[in-house]
Amino acid sequence: MQTTFYKTIGKEQEIFEHAYQNKLPLLLKGPTGTGKSRFVEFMAEKMSKKLYTVACHEETSSTDLIGRYIIKGNETVWVDGPMTRAVKEGAFLYLDEIAEARPDIIVALHSLTDHRRTLFIDKTGETIVANENFMLIATYNPGYQKGFKELKPSTRQRFISLSFNYPENEVETDILIKETGVEEDVAKKLVKLGSKIRNLTELGLAETVSTRLLVDASLLIKSGLPHRLSCDVAIAEPLTDDEDTLSALKDLISLSM
Ligand code: ADP
Repeated sequence: MQTTFYKTIGKEQEIFEHAYQNKLPLLLKGPTGTGKSRFVEFMAEKMSKKLYTVACHEETSSTDLIGRYIIKGNETVWVDGPMTRAVKEGAFLYLDEIAEARPDIIVALHSLTDHRRTLFIDKTGETIVANENFMLIATYNPGYQKGFKELKPSTRQRFISLSFNYPENEVETDILIKETGVEEDVAKKLVKLGSKIRNLTELGLAETVSTRLLVDASLLIKSGLPHRLSCDVAIAEPLTDDEDTLSALKDLISLSM
């Protein structure tokens, strides 16, 4: 029985399965909180694969992924990192926000993402051929907002790519209900509020309200926090620190909820 809940939006399951069968790395593009991680967890469970997840940030180096020597007693022993383990075991490796990672990771990915499917471990001098069940999945938040790094075309073209975005109102309402058990009328109001905020481009938000924030607001409401307060802390406050924008969002919340 599948325990991870994921609401399928389009052809993403088929695309994932075909990418896997053809040993093609998959890049999931889209804003934060749109279900990319949940989708990968769901597919790993559906396909009975072990999933190694690495949240990449500017300090993530190839050592974190590939492995390192550690001192044990008076010996140094080699410890495989998550990438090496996934490659050897035939697991799924999920690199979240790959564009944030240091360039040495991208270099390490080259031989793994083409026909060679090999991982070179420079510290041990070994070259490992990936287990046939190994699959690489990465996410990328397109750089339409400031502060996010771009992914080079030469890296992007190593992946087949699938876009994620904010779901249609009905689909998003269903996600809120299934995910949190919130009442349908509350879910509908939250989704309506979400789409209003998404349309307010003049607010100049770095990133707009995601399904994740609507899920958080639903959870707070479901556990008994007043509706408006839940939306203030789960939606308005996480989106901005600017006083004027915050009060505009809070006004919208009090009109909607
Ligand atoms: P991302 O990886 O794109 O940043 P997540 O996968 O972490 O986003 O999604 C954030 C939250 O939004 C999830 O924990 C889940 O509650 C909810 N969510 C978003 N999309 C879906 C979906 N299609 N099915 C189920 N839950 C979803």
